[in-house]
Amino acid sequence: MATPAESDADPYADARRRMVAEQLESRGIADPAVLRAMRLVPRERFVLEPYRPYAYDDTPLPIPANQTISQPYIVAYMIAMLRLSAADRVLEIGAGSGYAAAVMSRIAAAVYSVERHAGLVDYARQRLAELGYDNVQVRHGDGTLGWPDHAPYHAIIVAAGGPSVPETLRGQLAPGGRLIMPIGRDRRRQTLVLLTQGEDGRATEEMLVPVAFVPLIGDEGW
Ligand code: SAH
Repeated sequence: MATPAESDADPYADARRRMVAEQLESRGIADPAVLRAMRLVPRERFVLEPYRPYAYDDTPLPIPANQTISQPYIVAYMIAMLRLSAADRVLEIGAGSGYAAAVMSRIAAAVYSVERHAGLVDYARQRLAELGYDNVQVRHGDGTLGWPDHAPYHAIIVAAGGPSVPETLRGQLAPGGRLIMPIGRDRRRQTLVLLTQGEDGRATEEMLVPVAFVPLIGDEGW
């Protein structure tokens, strides 16, 4: 028989802890702030109800509007590459379910996320509000144009794949800022690219790993 304390306990706590150990730490994610945030945010709340039992599987899952929530490892990897600190302002393009924004909100000061599907804007906002993650704002619009009101950003994460880094986004990056984005000629297959804006305004780009993201649709995307 479960004691009251046990039945009140988070039924996903175990799966979440295992995901962090087996999918993240074992593959080299070591940033303590990222690991802590991934242990904190309930991914099951961001997936569609029928997929909750699979929330901690090592895989992307469908969300509304024919989009996907990334595999936990990819979320953690991209955020770790941004080397976020507690005072950072982050811009996300492609809020989707709101999950990655939720994870970043547990590390950085503020997260601003742009999403082109109105239905997903509501979906993400509702989940973030229910969890009380009040340092995230989600806006409806074309994220390839960024969100000038809160620029410059210390970090920018693009959660959809485009042909190149949108110039507008680069322009909204602070000196010393980092931008991570899947880039490729193919609409469905890309390489993760990390761009670092030098203090002198010159950027360096590093090719990381092959990935498969949904396409970035917009003025400076596909
Ligand atoms: N970070 C999300 C996953 C996003 S999937 C999560 O954690 O769930 C990629 C998202 O990018 C999709 O929701 C898609 O609608 C959105 N997207 C594609 N092009 C966009 C654009 N130009 N501006 C804003 N969002 C865009």
